[in-house]
Amino acid sequence: MNSITQDKSDFIRDIINSDLLEGKNDGRVKTRFPPEPNGYLHIGHAKAICINFGLALDYKGTCNLRFDDTNPVKEEFEYVDSIKQDIKWLGFDWQDREFYASDYFERLYELAVALIKKGKAYVCDLSADEIRQYRGTLTNPGKDSPYRNRDAEENIRLFEGMRNGDYPDGSKVLRAKIDMASPNLNMRDPVMYRILRATHHRTGDKWCIYPTYDWAHGQSDSIEKITHSICTLEFQDHRPLYDWFIEQLDIHHPQQIEFARLNLTYTVMSKRMLLELVEKKIVSGWDDPRMPTLSGMRRRGYTPQAIKNFCQEIGIAKADSTVDMAFLEHFIREDLNRNAPRVMAVLNPLKVIIDNYPEGCPEELDAINNPEDPAAGRRKVPFSKILYIEKDDFMENPPDKFYRLAPGREVRLRYAYFIKCESAIKDSKGNITELHCTYDPATKGGDAPDGRKVKSTIHWVSASHAIAGEARLYDKLFAVENPAKVQSGADFKDNINPSSLNIADNCMLEPSLAAAKPGDIFQFERLGYFCADPDSRAGKPVFNRTATLKDEWTRLKGKIK
Ligand code: ATP
Ligand code: MG
Repeated sequence: MNSITQDKSDFIRDIINSDLLEGKNDGRVKTRFPPEPNGYLHIGHAKAICINFGLALDYKGTCNLRFDDTNPVKEEFEYVDSIKQDIKWLGFDWQDREFYASDYFERLYELAVALIKKGKAYVCDLSADEIRQYRGTLTNPGKDSPYRNRDAEENIRLFEGMRNGDYPDGSKVLRAKIDMASPNLNMRDPVMYRILRATHHRTGDKWCIYPTYDWAHGQSDSIEKITHSICTLEFQDHRPLYDWFIEQLDIHHPQQIEFARLNLTYTVMSKRMLLELVEKKIVSGWDDPRMPTLSGMRRRGYTPQAIKNFCQEIGIAKADSTVDMAFLEHFIREDLNRNAPRVMAVLNPLKVIIDNYPEGCPEELDAINNPEDPAAGRRKVPFSKILYIEKDDFMENPPDKFYRLAPGREVRLRYAYFIKCESAIKDSKGNITELHCTYDPATKGGDAPDGRKVKSTIHWVSASHAIAGEARLYDKLFAVENPAKVQSGADFKDNINPSSLNIADNCMLEPSLAAAKPGDIFQFERLGYFCADPDSRAGKPVFNRTATLKDEWTRLKGKIK
């Protein structure tokens, strides 16, 4: 018996708690996550995964992974593998409960025959277009198919013929016999099987009839003895059909519960659209760091913990809403601020020569790995006569509010010394190519003994020790909040942000970054969080900018009612 005391509270848990109190399902809680293997998982799926696996964990139940592979045309092993990898990465475990709707094709066929025998299903010869016409509309009732009153014996013979390949694709379907006048269109004799000669990724050419989602899903839940079948709101109107099939067959009855799907600003969550971005090479693949896919987010440097914290915080609602992308990024920053070690890297290098620093005798300065995490310890950073600083940390004619380096001005180099800019050297075109500075040895690692102040601290790397790298700086993939919403004739791709990727290909990185492995995440001081990319090569690391340091959410929050 499960305990009903839970520290989390939402309407799904309320339902489960009351089921447990009533002693339903012998006190079991069993959920499932049912992806269709026709694309990679995205952040919306992460919400469904956290709900289903989270309930199983909280109630000491189990959660099955079930591939809803009833459409042979769009499904592939590549997707199955990526889905498993992404769920594991999030930190959830289906143990040995990896199932496929296609495992049940034989059983589903038997159940369909049982329904026919009860006079509750029939073979219909109307074409897809005719079925649509006969179905009626929300305001007009549908019309009975002329094939509706075939007797059970004839229906069984025809259904067997469908299975045996006696009829061409699309020439017949099996339909449930419910009510063509039902106010719910889903109940107007919905299709259960169609004839389709297509090779299935698991069953090959064994079948030429395939079950529809509505028929396969509930029966698969029932076969697996699922107790609570949690799905998104668009299935609310399918629930009466879900219940009808199970009641007619008198089999185990899971309860379908609907929740609101997650929508995020500045992105799309439809697998059809995501696939189009991949196929048209608008992004580099499903795992492009700008994609809302879990593989894209992993490559970008988003952590499983941050994604889970986000899913926990948005909660489970019954009404659709759109969550601000900045809210997700807030959780990424919160996690990385605590956990990502800090290093120094210069994205747009400007050479600085410290004229009064001795030549050929670099020193090692003491740096803190993460002030938020004392356990992260310290490291040594090499300092020498020639350094790189960020180009935009210097201005020849600074405006009032610019406090960084300028001619005659002094700043602190992080973990090092105060330096003062003596002169700027220019090339023939007037571009500044290097700065000559002096340093004050008395300011090593801290303040000036005479109490003089500087107004800013900037980051740097030692030129002779630096390693060259590439940084990929990402912005939103779409330029508008709701890219999927377009006027007729327009296309969601028209909303792509043309500058969602900028590459800084001549970065100078502190030498400790030579040891970074793909997936390692750092804070580049003052610049943002960066994750080492699998494209990194020996001697040329590549980093994806996970997020800048500025938390937009804190600013937006004030404006949200
Ligand atoms: P499609 O885009 O093809 O309609 P889908 O997004 O529903 O597919 P599935 O593979 O069928 O993808 O989804 C698996 C599970 O994830 C389903 O239970 C679905 O309800 C849930 N899910 C999908 N998208 C979201 C979302 N944006 N928010 C929450 N849950 C989602
Ligand atoms: Mg779906």
